Amino acid sequence: MGKKIAIDGPAGAGKSTIARLVAGKLSFIYVDTGAMYRAIALYFIRQGADGSDTGMIKEKCREAEVSIRYENQEQEVYLNGERVTPFLRTGEVSRMASCCSAVAEVRSHLLDLQRGLAREYNVVMDGRDIGTTILPDAEVKIFLTASVEVRAKRRYLELLEKGEPCDLEQIKAEISERDERDRTRAASPLVKAEDAILVDSSDMTIDETANKILEIVLEQMGCK
Ligand code: C5P
Repeated sequence: MGKKIAIDGPAGAGKSTIARLVAGKLSFIYVDTGAMYRAIALYFIRQGADGSDTGMIKEKCREAEVSIRYENQEQEVYLNGERVTPFLRTGEVSRMASCCSAVAEVRSHLLDLQRGLAREYNVVMDGRDIGTTILPDAEVKIFLTASVEVRAKRRYLELLEKGEPCDLEQIKAEISERDERDRTRAASPLVKAEDAILVDSSDMTIDETANKILEIVLEQMGCK
């Protein structure tokens, strides 16, 4: 079993940026579990399904075989043998991923993949239920959050920088909707593990947040 760092929290809290950074510093593998749910979502979007087709998602999710490879230290996601990483970060996929992830069969379909990676490598894994369900024995657990206003603003500026058309109020509404669904679902809801350390990055820059979390990780792992 490798060493395990779990970083959970709501959408747009900066988990992936921070997790990637911490993984790089420690020479661990960064595992983005959201991308796995996004791959399942892409599968069903391509099937013409929408988020309310729960019966179909439940029945057919095992037809979507998701695998992960590391190429140049970056996680690449494969869906039934096709590299789909470039198609995963759209609004449509975000919405569908949030719907698919509420289906218990989807979660159990991805559980072995996530635990298998943690057995094989030292990992920094980010998601919603890593500290509570996937890796309850992780050496370090962080729950990273920020106010919905701050998270929406960050996402808005990110999209503006990429030159993508966006609307701050709409982003805020979408983030709130995803948060609500993730927090209230019956299967592995988004909740802070009792032994996770809470970091609220609302008033911190990305660099400040990364430094704080790195400090916590090194301290908890006995490297300081
Ligand atoms: O983290 P990201 O925004 O890419 O995740 C997309 C969606 O996948 C989330 O809104 C959430 O519904 C779901 N997810 C999850 N459990 C995880 C990771 C992501 O339910 N461990």
